[in-house]
Amino acid sequence: MSNESKIIDGKKIAREIELSLSKNIAFLKKNGVIPSITVILVGENPASVIYVKNKENAAKRCGILSQKYIYSSDISENELLRKITELNDDPLIHGILVQLPLPKQINEYSVMETISPNKDVDGFHPFNAGKIFTGNSYFYPCTPLGIVKILDYCDIGLEGKNVVIIGQSIIVGKPLSIMLMNRNATISALNIYTGDIKYWTKRADILISATGKPHLIDGSFIKEGAVVIDVGISRFNGKICGDINFDTAIDKVSKITPVPGGVGPVTVAVLMENTINAAMKVLRRQRLMEDM
Ligand code: NAD
Repeated sequence: MSNESKIIDGKKIAREIELSLSKNIAFLKKNGVIPSITVILVGENPASVIYVKNKENAAKRCGILSQKYIYSSDISENELLRKITELNDDPLIHGILVQLPLPKQINEYSVMETISPNKDVDGFHPFNAGKIFTGNSYFYPCTPLGIVKILDYCDIGLEGKNVVIIGQSIIVGKPLSIMLMNRNATISALNIYTGDIKYWTKRADILISATGKPHLIDGSFIKEGAVVIDVGISRFNGKICGDINFDTAIDKVSKITPVPGGVGPVTVAVLMENTINAAMKVLRRQRLMEDM
């Protein structure tokens, strides 16, 4: 197998997800529903500014209406929560996303809990997060769902596989662990206190790293033929890179996601899918009311 054929093209998978939405988008519009997403950006974190821009571009490509509110980093928590409540009450808005991280004075959990579970296209509201346990959530968090879609797209089975996930944040590692458990994989969840992470990574059929520590994992940590999903996005020597030292990993793996161009674009495409699902939910509710 050539090294080139091992590289998973996240942009291609993202475009396919976006294209798959076009039928539902046309259906919504025919029925008078213009799908829309509202993004709130607090402060000027350069990475956040780029992520928000990527989301706006994807919305434009798909034909989803997008609007953005930008606040300075000294906004109070109450002011932000008031804005979210106002957006919750606006029937023309289907998806609400507050770009993380937020400044210290704002409790991210309060923000997640304030977004209506019906508009929670990031999938972080405790109601939607809790439903992950049942395998029956309406909005799965975008990065974990993107990773599941990548694995499915590449026809990588999960049953009976040893999956090692490094990083246990509530936006990536934790929900992903449950989602892959629901698919009958055997999960090892590692964190900064694990100690000898190589002991675990060497046994991984599928290794997923989401730490934000550039080049934490080199080829010597990887089992021959493993699938490697690199979620990390960091800067190293002025260049964007992931948690995996790609150059030393590529000879070991059977498949690997690059950074950039791997998990990132798929995450954004899943956000568009969640937005369309939110709009479809509104249309279904409208029709139910009409039938009464
Ligand atoms: P976080 O800081 O909330 O969590 C990091 C996790 O990694 C923690 O559980 C920590 O214990 C673990 N960790 C850190 N260093 C470790 C080490 N040396 N050994 C073992 N575990 C270690 O981070 P996050 O919000 O989950 O983001 C992680 C990375 O993923 C960041 O680089 C972020 O930019 C990136 N990210 C990418 C996408 C995407 O769409 N591609 C989406 C979300 C996050």
